[in-house]
Amino acid sequence: MKETTKIEEMGRRTGSGLKKLVRVHKSSAKHWVGDGFHVRSVFGYNDLGRELSPFLLLDYAAPTEFPPGSQRRGVGAHPHRGFETVTVVYQGELEHRDSTGAGGKIGPGDVQWMTAAGGIVHEEFHASEFTRTGGTLEMVQLWVNLPAKHKRAKAGYQTLLNAQIPGMALSNYAGHVRVIAGEFNGQTGPARTFTPVNVWDARLNAARSAELPVPDGHTTAFLVLRGRVLVNGEEEAVEGDLPIFARGGDRIGIEAKTDATLLVLTGEPIAEPVVGYGPFVMNSRAEIEQAYEDFQHGRMGQSLD
Ligand code: MN
Repeated sequence: MKETTKIEEMGRRTGSGLKKLVRVHKSSAKHWVGDGFHVRSVFGYNDLGRELSPFLLLDYAAPTEFPPGSQRRGVGAHPHRGFETVTVVYQGELEHRDSTGAGGKIGPGDVQWMTAAGGIVHEEFHASEFTRTGGTLEMVQLWVNLPAKHKRAKAGYQTLLNAQIPGMALSNYAGHVRVIAGEFNGQTGPARTFTPVNVWDARLNAARSAELPVPDGHTTAFLVLRGRVLVNGEEEAVEGDLPIFARGGDRIGIEAKTDATLLVLTGEPIAEPVVGYGPFVMNSRAEIEQAYEDFQHGRMGQSLD
């Protein structure tokens, strides 16, 4: 079967019912991003950008121990265009600065939602204090695509602090869900998004089950950061695994075999071509070439100083 047909098949709405588990996707082995982030690539736009639309990329830096140091680790100034980057910190502290003049520090439970859109230059480093003391860093970075009509919008930045992110308990002591973006059982997350997406930080308790309500027609997947879960009563998933569901249906079933931490993603697919190269994700090759030219001529902002 051609890939196109398979994805269209998955896009069919079925109304109520469990979303079918399509497969459990595995993350790559670990590699370094700059000298600060020891990540597994969960997925990227080249392999799963269409299937997981509007999500383009997900990197997971599992807990990594850093010794005290004097030089901040991370990634120096680099550009992005055409999408949003979402950084969720679980442990440790990060500092960010960008060409819009925004910046700040985020720690455990905090989220940075950066809209690169028309173009931004930013740097991503361990925070100075965290560098001095050393410690454990655990974080994820998610890239969310923008529809063509917003790809050249003005860049922006939202800091979503832990205290602003509403949480709610699941029934039957099954665990807890923090709503970073979208909505869960009547609680709305603080992130402003361009298309409908849900980003939930879910913690499940061992030996408990939960059925999470997810929108019919949405792309749906979750990353297991920690623990072991049984998905829809069918297949187990462990750290680094990403169960991917069919778009039809309005809930997913998760049974926690151990305490588990999950990042649940759902989103309305954007039915447009995904053409990406490095830090730029647009709709055509010509737009990628334009992005390189604009960056080289300083049109995404230049110095951060
Ligand atoms: Mn970046």
